[in-house]
Amino acid sequence: MSRYTGPVCRLCRRETAASKTGEKIKLFLKGDRCLSRMCAVERRGTAPGQKTTGNKSRTKVSEYGRQLREKQKMRRYYGVHETQFRNYFREAARVPGQTGRTFLQLLERRLDNVIYRLNLAQSRAQARQLVTHRHFRVNGRIVNIPSYVVRAGDTITIAPASLKSTVFGSNLEVAQSRRPPEWLEWNDEEKIAKVLQPPPREQIDTPVDEQLIVEYYSR
Ligand code: SF4
Repeated sequence: MSRYTGPVCRLCRRETAASKTGEKIKLFLKGDRCLSRMCAVERRGTAPGQKTTGNKSRTKVSEYGRQLREKQKMRRYYGVHETQFRNYFREAARVPGQTGRTFLQLLERRLDNVIYRLNLAQSRAQARQLVTHRHFRVNGRIVNIPSYVVRAGDTITIAPASLKSTVFGSNLEVAQSRRPPEWLEWNDEEKIAKVLQPPPREQIDTPVDEQLIVEYYSR
């Protein structure tokens, strides 16, 4: 299955238009633009193709519809294909404990997400590209698989040749000035990151209700 390569702001506008509470749903797919006034969700809260004026009649959304939307939203956050997403769910369901939480933790521990959380990339898409271009090492070995799942105790470093190049642009400055979530540690002097622990649920700021996704896959 091919990756979605269309305009990504449409995805945020669709989720926002589907939001029952009228809340703005930002998937943060465009780096700094997402934090600026140029963000399409800030400028237009309508669904793609919907006029900005006129009647915005909302159709009643079924329970299944809510579960489906939440699943799509989370999948788009992490930029994961449907098949791979479902596989994460199956893996989480095999682990004793709360399936939804384990599922979210698995996605959060993907290497591309970790690079994004460390502020070494402006978006998960950029992080994915940096990983596939072999710019990172995990425990001293090059890892070019964005779905690689990190574990507590893992160290992540930037390949020395990449550090000397301009490939990271201003990302390294951002990593120096922004703190990563507490389950990760970034040593700016040595340019080395460490996974301190599995991500606790309260440190994952992805605004999804993972229980709805559990219900979706448990039908
Ligand atoms: Fe979504 Fe970012 Fe586009 Fe805003 S700028 S609509 S948050 S992708």
